[in-house]
Amino acid sequence: MRLLLKNVRVWDGLADDYVAEGDVLCVDGRIAEIGRVSAGADVTLDLAGRALLPGFIDAHFHAYAADVDVPRLETLPLTYLAHHAANLLRGALRRGFTTVRDAGGADWGLWRAVEDGLLQAPRIFYAGRALSQTGGHGDSRAPHVEPCGHRHVANLSQVCDGVDAIRLAARETLRQGAHQLKIFVSGGVSSPTDPIWMRQFTAEEVRAVVEEAASRRTYVMAHAYTADAITHAVRNGVRSIEHGNLLNANAATLMAGRGAFLVPTLATYDALARDGERLGLPAVSREKLAEVASQGLAAISIARRAGVKVGFGTDLLGPLHDWQLHEFSLRTAGERPIDILRSATSVNAELLHRSGDLGLIAHGARADLVAFDGEPLSDVTAITARGPAFVAKGGEVIVRPD
Ligand code: ZN
Ligand code: ZN
Repeated sequence: MRLLLKNVRVWDGLADDYVAEGDVLCVDGRIAEIGRVSAGADVTLDLAGRALLPGFIDAHFHAYAADVDVPRLETLPLTYLAHHAANLLRGALRRGFTTVRDAGGADWGLWRAVEDGLLQAPRIFYAGRALSQTGGHGDSRAPHVEPCGHRHVANLSQVCDGVDAIRLAARETLRQGAHQLKIFVSGGVSSPTDPIWMRQFTAEEVRAVVEEAASRRTYVMAHAYTADAITHAVRNGVRSIEHGNLLNANAATLMAGRGAFLVPTLATYDALARDGERLGLPAVSREKLAEVASQGLAAISIARRAGVKVGFGTDLLGPLHDWQLHEFSLRTAGERPIDILRSATSVNAELLHRSGDLGLIAHGARADLVAFDGEPLSDVTAITARGPAFVAKGGEVIVRPD
């Protein structure tokens, strides 16, 4: 299958400006030629001088997060949630996200269905059920619920305590094909009983998960808000810090030194603050939201100043997924558009250990491509106002220009 895109300006995911003008030929799902292409193709599209960018990667997505009330969502069966996932994934792909890293929930079955072409969806890198301690961010039980004597396993997360238990949970999750593991090392907004400042899991527990991930040549992502929790995670081998809103300079220096990434998720705080109450976000979560919501932007500048690699995520819940592209707008308060675009393409690809394959327009890379009207490299409203005029995933055209 040969797809020829005529008349584009190409940004490769890395450079300060466009790297080529002309045509891009994709053969069997990969980029084969850039520039002046004389060969023929099965499908030819004239993109009329639009900017062609690598497809975006959302490094913090939850395909099964069908509701803003996570404890309520944890009572629903996965067979039901999978239908929501199909809708949420299709929406993400049409917004230009050709890859998502699922931060808790998505599993082998959903991934297999996408790989088999049963639904229109981005590529998924899934963490399976995120690992939580009892009473941690992944423990969705209300405070009045009595302990039942066996391990709490929910849709998005699973509870395990102690080095042996967390090791077993990590091994089972990796056996089920997880691309990376996810743990919670501080309190969070959507859970009912853990304060944001709470540190979760011991150093020994974190090290056990990191060791299990490394034995499969992968890594650990950790939900962490406070500087203390971030330090706790990174010191014990975590590579990807999720949210990180309460980061300070010392923790950022440690992250930079260890090569850890920060994945901010501003879109979810913005959307929950605006629409959370109306959509049923519980009161306890609305209170916790106020503790972290305003500090996400400051964390990004602290991270940038220390030289931390900053990725791109959204962490949206339920109908709020519609705000996925809004992450670009929110970040312009502190960053240049080109740097935000690098976060969403080449930096996230490096985070996924897929540099050269994803988040890049170059010979041999996947033909995951988006095109926009206007000047997206200098003006994010070109991205957010109408969304992409063209989307392809693996050389398959998803959105056609009119
Ligand atoms: Zn989180
Ligand atoms: Zn999340």
